[in-house]
Amino acid sequence: MERLLQSTAARAIDYLATLENRAVAPSAAALAGLSRLDESLPDESTSAEAVITLLDEVGSPATVASAGSRFFGFVVGGSLPAALAANWLAGAWDQNAGISVLSPIAAKLEEVAIGWLLDVLHLPAGAGVGFVTCATQANFAGLAAARHALLARQGWDVEAQGLFGAPPIRVVVGEEVHVSVLKALMMIGLGRERVIKVPVDGQGRMKPEALPALDEQTILCLQAGNVNTGSFDPASAIIHQAKAAGAWVHVDAAFGLWAAATPRYMHLVEGIGEADSWATDAHKWLNVPYDSGLVFVRDPKHLRAAMAVNAAYLVDGDRRDPTHYTPDFSRRARGVEVWAALRSLGRSGLSDLIERTCQHARRFADGLGAAGYQILNDVVLNQVLVSFGDAETTRRVIAAIQADGTCWCGGTVWQDKTAMRISVSSWATTAEDVEQSLDAMLQVAATVRA
Ligand SMILES: *Cc1c(COP(=O)(O)O)cnc(C)c1O
Repeated sequence: MERLLQSTAARAIDYLATLENRAVAPSAAALAGLSRLDESLPDESTSAEAVITLLDEVGSPATVASAGSRFFGFVVGGSLPAALAANWLAGAWDQNAGISVLSPIAAKLEEVAIGWLLDVLHLPAGAGVGFVTCATQANFAGLAAARHALLARQGWDVEAQGLFGAPPIRVVVGEEVHVSVLKALMMIGLGRERVIKVPVDGQGRMKPEALPALDEQTILCLQAGNVNTGSFDPASAIIHQAKAAGAWVHVDAAFGLWAAATPRYMHLVEGIGEADSWATDAHKWLNVPYDSGLVFVRDPKHLRAAMAVNAAYLVDGDRRDPTHYTPDFSRRARGVEVWAALRSLGRSGLSDLIERTCQHARRFADGLGAAGYQILNDVVLNQVLVSFGDAETTRRVIAAIQADGTCWCGGTVWQDKTAMRISVSSWATTAEDVEQSLDAMLQVAATVRA
């Protein structure tokens, strides 16, 4: 065991060291090499050493180097050193974090991390928090809490009786709602098409004047951080009337919530703290390893009502049992990395991470703009949308940038315009990485356009 873990750690360290110089996207040869895995289940056992050798030889080259410093696709963070190392140690611990009696340390780290998160993200003290896999699950859990609260108010016990015969719930979203909110609505029986969509402006922000009348049977889903533009729904212009009408306000803030952690960008989340529930990711901007999302619910009793079950064999002590706040029962101790990331960054390190990545995005926009390419969004956060000409040219430039391998960016269609998306979300990205990537982008674009 000891030799195996030492050699595996050495392999992992080597892997991370190669990220600096390898192409971000895996090579054709590496992808072809995946066919080595097409074998039937062996009859005989294989040594762990041989299994890890195969995994490293075939697997490592076929990864996308999203843990490196020049991956700007989707919204993908890397892993902070302390978070990755904590993940390794927690792997050895192999704790079941569902109930505190099974892992006092996992339960304790969640409690400590919850206090820090509510503080640094300016969310209400005492909110209920669940450590889930991703923002999709966080939206699911937050909306399940909303469903509980709205129906309980009308005397309907949705956890016991389901939705058959229940009073209707209205769901209002922006036209730019993220698909994960629709997926969550689909999973909790509210229906992904049974929504009222509010028109948005050129940045994807809900138009407050277009909001329908809200009431206490309505869930209003706001967005903090549009996946394309990085823009925020104008919460302060909306939230007071929503709350006054008795509506439940849920915020999909998968990455935008982290703007609250820095004075420079805090204005973007103004008003959001007044909501009832929030979903965010830790594996995006907090830079912990996958998978890690967080749900926050102002009144913890609604989240507990939607998530908790009890059985006689479960010890129900005085302590907070993590499973009462999440869809999962048994699960890994993902609070460990959240704690480690926050503990290592501190308040100023977190603020610096957010500001630095936003500045890098600004530099990309300035550099591409100066070269004559059109920036399609107001670069308010860490997201940049750039057009290299018509749709076909832009698509060809994106493909060529991906093939070049210096960095990686994806494509999108933003309000009918084809664009390349740049998202700077990793702690590891330096100013040099940005210059190197910008040079590569400009060179590739010039070649394609010629
Ligand atoms: C990324 C993202 C999600 C989904 O996050 P997952 O962690 O992939 O489930 C939801 N909403 C927004 C705005 C996002 O950016």
